[in-house]
Formats: sequence, C-alpha cells, structure tokens
Amino acid sequence: MAFDSLTEKLQNIFKNLRSKGRLTEDDVKEALKEIKRALLAADVNFKVVKDFIKNVQERAIGQDVMNGLNPGQMVVKIVNEELVKLMGSETTEIKLQPGSAITVIMMAGLQGAGKTTTTAKLAGKFKLKGKKPLLVACDVYRPAAIKQLQINGEKQGVEVFSMGENHKPANIAKAALLHAQKNKNNIVILDTAGRLHIDEDMMAELQEIKDTVDVHQTILVIDAMTGQDAVNVAKDFNDKIGIDGVIVTKLDGDTRGGAALSVKAVTGKPILYVGMGEKLSDLEQFYPERMASRILG
Ligand code: GDP
Repeated sequence: MAFDSLTEKLQNIFKNLRSKGRLTEDDVKEALKEIKRALLAADVNFKVVKDFIKNVQERAIGQDVMNGLNPGQMVVKIVNEELVKLMGSETTEIKLQPGSAITVIMMAGLQGAGKTTTTAKLAGKFKLKGKKPLLVACDVYRPAAIKQLQINGEKQGVEVFSMGENHKPANIAKAALLHAQKNKNNIVILDTAGRLHIDEDMMAELQEIKDTVDVHQTILVIDAMTGQDAVNVAKDFNDKIGIDGVIVTKLDGDTRGGAALSVKAVTGKPILYVGMGEKLSDLEQFYPERMASRILG
C-alpha cells in the first residue's frame, strides 16, 4: 500500500514525541529533522519540505506547545494540520456547467500515465451521478488507444465517439460536441494523445483543442510512481496550457507517494481523484484530511 514507509517512519517519530512528558525546543527540532528526512525520502519536493518544516517549526516552538499540557500531542496535531493544508485542505469537485449545459473536460498527460483508463473511470463516476457522458477519442496517433477507449467505454456502458486516425484532434472535438448536443450528453470527456516527454507538438495540439472548443476543465493525469518527475510535469502543463486539477494514478503501487503531497503546493491546483488500481472502479475522490490521517496513523 502506498505511503507505508512514510507512515511507518512518521509514526515512530510521533511515538517518541508523545511519550515525552515535557518537550524541549531541542526535542522538537530533532523530531522535525527526522520528519524532514522522512518526507524527502518519500520523494516530496525539496522546496515543499523546506516550507512545510518551517511552518511546523514556527507553530511548534511557539508558546502553545511549551505551555501546553501535552506538548508531544500538540506537535502531532500541528503536523497533521500542516499536512492537510499542504494538500489543499478541501475536497475539490470537478466543476460542471450549470443546468443542462454541456461540460467539456479535456484529459491531458504523458503516455502511460493512465489517461485513457482514468477517462473511462471518470465516466463511470459521472454515470453514477446520473449524468450522460460521452467519451471522445482524440488520441489519433495510437490506434490501440482508440480501441482501448472503446473497450473501456463499453465496459462502463458509456458511448465513445471516434473518427479514426485521419482527423485533427481539434476537429474531432468539435464534431463530438455537435454529436453530444444531438444526443443529449451533458458531459464530454476528451481523451487526448500523450507523448513520452513533454514536447511542443503535444502542447500545441492541446492548445488547438482549447482554441476550437470551449474546454471547461482541463484535467492532468500524472503517475505517482514517477515521483518528483510527476510534479515537474504538472508544473509544466500548468505553465504552458493551464490546468484545473490533477488526478494522481497508481497510488496503489509501490510508490513513496511524494507526488500526491507536493502537487498542490507546486502547481496551486488541487488533486481531484486518485487512481488506486487497474480496475475501472479503482478511482477515489481525494480527501486531504483522510490522506493526512492515513500518513500519520
Ligand atoms: P495512457 O497512455 O496515459 O492513456 O495510459 P493507460 O490508461 O493506457 O494506462 C497505462 C497503464 O497503467 C495501464 O496498464 C493501466 O491499467 C495502468 N493504470 C492506470 N491507472 C492505474 C492505477 O491507478 N493503478 C494501477 N496499478 N495501474 C493503473
């Protein structure tokens, strides 16, 4: 399970703190040093760790703790609160257009991040909420991607719109929107092409889609297994085309989980969902508080 080693390390640090009747400033500093080490080892972005430790330290070495009845617990509470803050405090829903207006969601991400799978997972969530989503195959470079979307769409009982490989993604998106209007779909999810690395062509293609149809939400899919790289990818996408939220996949894997902790602090954009497995039902809403409790035990 993700975060296991971080959880274990932090829990040990806190067990020590809690067991002390009185805390000296040195106790707190020593504990913070260990927390810093644990976060860095879990692949949390360096600057994020530095700011985090500074915030905790400022609060922990304040009067609250020194005069508190149970200083060890106080520090644990502060770390918990700061972790929640780091991840954005609140659960963020994907913002839908009001009434019966169609919401257009563009999915972006590097190849292999889990974009096509996540697109189908999301469609399932919307369907459960009584929406009528339409999935759109805008990845025209890999016939396998179109096929995969069709198979997954079928499994979810959701219609997939495809025009094969010989059209520009922006034009496919435009045609899909007309189809959605006729068909009374109220959510259109565009599955776009990923590449192995961020490149100008990919960004230009996404921008062209945005220039052609009214995209209401751009959601970036990143792979937790790629650690700090995933966060750099998120920053790049946000700087270049602008994103509204992030879905972090493969948190079920053997990952150190740092990406999930850093993404909000680095990009300013919230995590919406987390991918917890390959099955189409393995998508969970992201709750910062739950994640913090899971890490701290
Ligand atoms: P794309 O290239 O970004 O469209 O990626 P795909 O959707 O094809 O996914 C790449 C691989 O990652 C596939 O084998 C998926 O089953 C797998 N995958 C996607 N999301 C998750 C997840 O949350 N957990 C796990 N374990 N595997 C995932």
